[in-house]
Order: sequence, then structure tokens, then C-alpha cells
Amino acid sequence: MHSDIRVCESWSDRHDRPVYTLTTRCPECGGNAVNSAPAPYDPTDRYGEYRRALKQRAQE
Ligand SMILES: [Zn+2]
Repeated sequence: MHSDIRVCESWSDRHDRPVYTLTTRCPECGGNAVNSAPAPYDPTDRYGEYRRALKQRAQE
């Protein structure tokens, strides 16, 4: 089944991070929520950069 996750249309202006919802409204600011796909990156992976840095260090 195709995922129908939406993200606050203006999250970058109103929030620190993307706000996801399954409805057409942002649960935090009540603004428009738009289809999030395709996501350019995984915004929920807050430690991705940290983890990649560790991995890179381990390879040196
Ligand atoms: Zn919002």
C-alpha cells in the first residue's frame, strides 16, 4: 500500500523539524500538510550524521 504520510507545508518556517501527519492539517500549527514523498533525507534520523562520523572514524 502506498504510504500517505504528509508533512507540514511550511514546517521550515514554523517548526524546528518536519512535522508529519496522516491528515491534511499539521497537528502543531494547523497549517496545510502536503505529501512528503519523496523525502530528500530522513529528518527523523537526528543522529545519522553523528553515526556516519563514527563509522568514518572507525574506517581510518
Ligand atoms: Zn506546521
